[in-house]
Amino acid sequence: MILRIQNGHIIDPANGIDRIADLWVRDGVIAAIGESDCGPADQTIDAGGCIVCPGLIDMHVHLREPGQEWKEDIASGSRAAVAGGVTSMCCMPNTGPHIDHAGIALQIIARAKQVGLCNVYPIGAVTKNLDGKELTEMRELSRAGCVAFSDDGMPIWHAGVMRKSLEYAASFGFMIIQHAEEKMLTGNGAINEGWVSTQLGVAGMPAVGEDSMIARDIMLAELSGARYHVAHISTKGAVELVRQARGKGLKVTTEAAPHHFALTEEAVLGYNADAKMSPPLRTEEDRLAVIEGLRDGTIDVIATDHAPHHEDDKRCGLSCAAFGIVGLETMLPLSLQLVRDQVLEMPRLLATMTCNPARLLGLKAGTLSIGAEADICIFDPEKKWTLDRKKLFSKGKNTPWHGMEMTGQVTHTIKAGQPVFSHGAIVGEAAYE
Ligand SMILES: [Zn+2]
Repeated sequence: MILRIQNGHIIDPANGIDRIADLWVRDGVIAAIGESDCGPADQTIDAGGCIVCPGLIDMHVHLREPGQEWKEDIASGSRAAVAGGVTSMCCMPNTGPHIDHAGIALQIIARAKQVGLCNVYPIGAVTKNLDGKELTEMRELSRAGCVAFSDDGMPIWHAGVMRKSLEYAASFGFMIIQHAEEKMLTGNGAINEGWVSTQLGVAGMPAVGEDSMIARDIMLAELSGARYHVAHISTKGAVELVRQARGKGLKVTTEAAPHHFALTEEAVLGYNADAKMSPPLRTEEDRLAVIEGLRDGTIDVIATDHAPHHEDDKRCGLSCAAFGIVGLETMLPLSLQLVRDQVLEMPRLLATMTCNPARLLGLKAGTLSIGAEADICIFDPEKKWTLDRKKLFSKGKNTPWHGMEMTGQVTHTIKAGQPVFSHGAIVGEAAYE
């Protein structure tokens, strides 16, 4: 099977490729860029006017399976992923049961293969039951396919447990991903602490709740020499802490979610629960600091924190609504704004969603190298479309962008040489239901 992707603007940050050429795929792997001896193609995709890049990687996704399949499952999450150009994603362990033992990781990987649309890499829990007390068997979880460790949804709150987990992880080169939130400071807060929380009369989560835990963790990371990754960074102070740690040569990395550089706390005015997430949307100063972190390379990765919920979990008042929004299908258009605003050039932007997360997680993905598995995203960077929540492939309809115009649309997603998404529709889906 030979696939020819014709006349696209190929951008492969991993290999420094940035030119208009044909891309050839033979038997599921990248065969050639430009001239090829592949012979006639069995299938041709016209990518004129479009960008052809490695399939995107989203290293922070909540797939809800097992345990909360009414919110999302591996099949619906995979469809949302490929509709967003994502061909590899990491799923967080706050499922039911949690990904705190090898059996669950193996089950998720097997189910994702059966669905066959998107690579799914589980993130193992750091502590059993995510309760922050007793470490999981990280080595066993790693052997089962977990690519990093986190208690996301919950912080690893106990400093002693955090120290032990970092020391243990350091001896195997594992990365610990922290949901940085000092619960003693955030309490029952629902949104950012500031004038919006005061105006709405809703309890706030102060920025210092995020910053103080990151400051503590960076000291522990230095002590242990471990790889420490801050999930969904959202404050000016946190970006500065990571910048300083990296300046000292520590193995500290971080990711930003599109909502934290696209929106501020004002999006929750009117008690809008579809703009409620943790960490919350912050101030304009914080938003600009996240953007500056992306620009100067303090922030390596864009990841969505895709957190689908049922409508009932959101339509119960701002204070008690569930935290989180869906993100897989809006990651690319929202991130392209950074190119239009001249914060990042296109290759650097695409690196944050391809080779950078691949490098952090040790994934064989995020590249168009000859011989690599042909996971490819093709998108029209100028195409305008209006987001309709009812048309999302995710079961979760909780997005603050309903009815808004997006610029930039995925036209094709190719997984291991097979088109899995084409012009708005899932194709070649395995019969799994
Ligand atoms: Zn989190």
